Amino acid sequence: MTQIATMWNAASGFGLTSLFETKEKIRLRGWSKDTYLSFEISRSSDGRQLGPLSVRDFSLGICPSHRDSYIDKSSFAPKILKKLRNDVGAPHWKDRAGQLLELALTKGSKYHAPQRPIADFGASVRSAWSGFVSDPGADELIQGMYECPTSDGDAIGADWFLSGLGLTLASEVSYWCMDSCLFADGALATTDVSLFSNTFQTEGNPLGIGEAAPDIVVKRIGMVGEVKTGKRFHPSYLHAVAGYAMAYESCFHRKVDWGVVYFLQTSVCDELSPVEPITGGHVYFFRINDTLRSLFLDDRDDIYAVLGNPVPPARPGNAMRCQKCKYSAACDVLDAQDERDK
Ligand code: SF4
Repeated sequence: MTQIATMWNAASGFGLTSLFETKEKIRLRGWSKDTYLSFEISRSSDGRQLGPLSVRDFSLGICPSHRDSYIDKSSFAPKILKKLRNDVGAPHWKDRAGQLLELALTKGSKYHAPQRPIADFGASVRSAWSGFVSDPGADELIQGMYECPTSDGDAIGADWFLSGLGLTLASEVSYWCMDSCLFADGALATTDVSLFSNTFQTEGNPLGIGEAAPDIVVKRIGMVGEVKTGKRFHPSYLHAVAGYAMAYESCFHRKVDWGVVYFLQTSVCDELSPVEPITGGHVYFFRINDTLRSLFLDDRDDIYAVLGNPVPPARPGNAMRCQKCKYSAACDVLDAQDERDK
């Protein structure tokens, strides 16, 4: 992805990355015993070995009390709950938006004009956009966006979302232009950024993480990351990236100090706002320090504890949250069963 390479080159070219460096030593590397899943947590209350789970299972960020994990993953949860959750779940605005962004980033960029990028900027943007929308996969998904309700239950957002996607492609072209000016020996190349094909197996991993598939891996500088879409930037994105970093370290015994999230807003943040700000995808770099690593490990332990317990966790205090949640039908059934059992 061009924006990641260009922003990194800009920061390192001007000596800015040294400003982000600290003397803080990272203790919670993926190979450190301090990160291992404890024997007690890795087993259910009836003594069975749990898991392994994927990083995504630890960082869904849907339910603060992890009832979503109980419904999806617990062997104690009735099977009917999974069916209820699936029936409610698809297809969803956010899923389609995520697929479109993935397609734009992987397909759209290949339509850039190969030479004289600055002189041909407008032509390059138009070429990238028309190449992307004429892709048969994109056409179908775009149609789907107009038919699919947004997470707020209306369908007004498709034009607005596509404007943002257009801006995303235009900014990819502009970063590509900028990179052609900044590029120097030793700079990060766009081809150093591996996108959407980074699955690695973590069989028998002491972290309690099964297969891991970070959206972004930049091996040269020890960086992993995620491409995210949503209403707003959520802290759980950072936890997930820390999980990927530790899984990567555990598997390959290479340090991963840097995280990146590429975020595109897919619906308007504030329903009361009189305007809909049009914005494209943005890159966020951060150091994966011990604080972030321990937040991921806390999430991991909490979810293993939920899966090991036959009693489902209580609902979170915020009832508004449940109204818009795709697990609400399954949760109602869970509550009804709980009442009967009392
Ligand atoms: S409906 Fe409420 S309790 Fe159930 S998973 Fe969603 S947020 Fe959690």
